[in-house]
Amino acid sequence: MKRNKSSLSESSPASLTSRRYFLRDSAVLAALTTANPIPGLASLHAREQTSASMIGIQVGAVSFVDEGVENVLDNLQKRGGVNTIFLTTFTYGRGLSGRQIPGHPFPDHGSQESDEKTFHGGNYATIHPEFYHNTVLNNTRATEFGDLDIVAAVLPAARKREMKVFCSVEDQWRPDVPGVSDCAEIDLYGRKTNSLCLFNPDVRSFWTGLVTDLCKSYNIDGILFFNERNGPLLNSLGASHFQQINSSRVTCFCEHHQRAARQQGINLERAKQGYQKLDRLVQSSLKGERPTDGYFVEFQRLLLQYPEIIAWDRLFDQGKHEVLGEVYGAVKSVREDLQVGFHIEHVNSFNPFFRATRSYEEIASSADFFKVVTYNNCGGERYVRFIRNVCSTIFRDVPPQELMQFNNHLLNYDNEAPFDQLETAGLSPDYVSRETRRALEGVKGKCLILPGIDIGIPTSPNSRKASPDDTYAATLAALRAGANGVIFSRKYSEMKLENLDAAGRAVREALKP
Ligand SMILES: [Zn+2]
Repeated sequence: MKRNKSSLSESSPASLTSRRYFLRDSAVLAALTTANPIPGLASLHAREQTSASMIGIQVGAVSFVDEGVENVLDNLQKRGGVNTIFLTTFTYGRGLSGRQIPGHPFPDHGSQESDEKTFHGGNYATIHPEFYHNTVLNNTRATEFGDLDIVAAVLPAARKREMKVFCSVEDQWRPDVPGVSDCAEIDLYGRKTNSLCLFNPDVRSFWTGLVTDLCKSYNIDGILFFNERNGPLLNSLGASHFQQINSSRVTCFCEHHQRAARQQGINLERAKQGYQKLDRLVQSSLKGERPTDGYFVEFQRLLLQYPEIIAWDRLFDQGKHEVLGEVYGAVKSVREDLQVGFHIEHVNSFNPFFRATRSYEEIASSADFFKVVTYNNCGGERYVRFIRNVCSTIFRDVPPQELMQFNNHLLNYDNEAPFDQLETAGLSPDYVSRETRRALEGVKGKCLILPGIDIGIPTSPNSRKASPDDTYAATLAALRAGANGVIFSRKYSEMKLENLDAAGRAVREALKP
């Protein structure tokens, strides 16, 4: 495999110009067609989409190592109709990196041996130290493939095929990385955690340094940034599809957060008291110790008594969004035509509390595109878990099937399978369509929308597994709803080739002139 760093001279002014124009024109057209549904404009938009839709896929380094760069690119291009690689370049997480996650069957390509023991994670590109002078997080090299530089290895081969390459970068760490302990978030009871504080100056410098390094050192098309972390309020309640409810470990109460809170007049002691009371309420709810006035009323009363609970949660979001803004600024200061996209996590889709904490339009002001998670097969299981979690705490008085029905009304989830069948049924292709349209309308033309399509995301034994027909239907639904492209997710190393073929069939069908 070639290990030479790609040269900036590969940049073609013509292709850069056409990229910029494509973005500008589609944004304008999207705005116009949203505001004024004039038939002529809609078909103009459709033509624009036909000529330039971004058909992306997320791939990690291990797939190129296991199967060879040319072979993988061949599969992606010929089978999936892919024209854009979202190359996992930085993460310590297994969702985007590594082979199939342990305990799930391997797809019909790549190594059939688990990398559970060899997986490390980190930066799969070369680290250029001059970009990390202002951070203790300066030693993040992924170690499992020696000195292989995955961007240098893939980029020239992708360019020869006229494919775009974005570096995917994810906020996922492991505790033994040098510097992590210095930047760790501090929980409610003063303990260090394994996540990094988004107000810590070393963390801020790391993210801007990393994306600057990638954009200056390689002739890539841009960055896709992932951060799925939630603030203390939702973490305390377990209001997501994650299995754990750990209300005593909510974050962050470190000195940097305290400083940010002081600047905004938020009282640290009151916030801590509020979260400690919430911790006790959640723990007693999990044991079924019903407050006299009911679980939800007790929760609502706590919020009224301690508005600092909400204020501290907003502070977390503020830190998260400031990092997104700084990443965007850092990339654009390298070259204006580089594109920045943000992964919008699944919880945004099925949790009304999360939805209310942010607006698509607001975040779109510092993004060129959103990868909106619309994973429908695993979405059934995840939505059920979310409902089960909140039904074990603040909505414990409500039968789960009834809460789901109510929630469906709130979120415009019509015609999905009922609670007791949803894990095996998955969410429908119509869900993909509705979430795509909501995002397109939400951003008001300020950025492009590339729905993330679920191709074989691992689920529990009895939950829906994506069939080729499922993949075909979801891909077609997103493109027909007006998406500016799609991103096949989560990673090539967990997708069956027949599903990739089906995705490619849908792409060709949707985009045929
Ligand atoms: Zn902090």
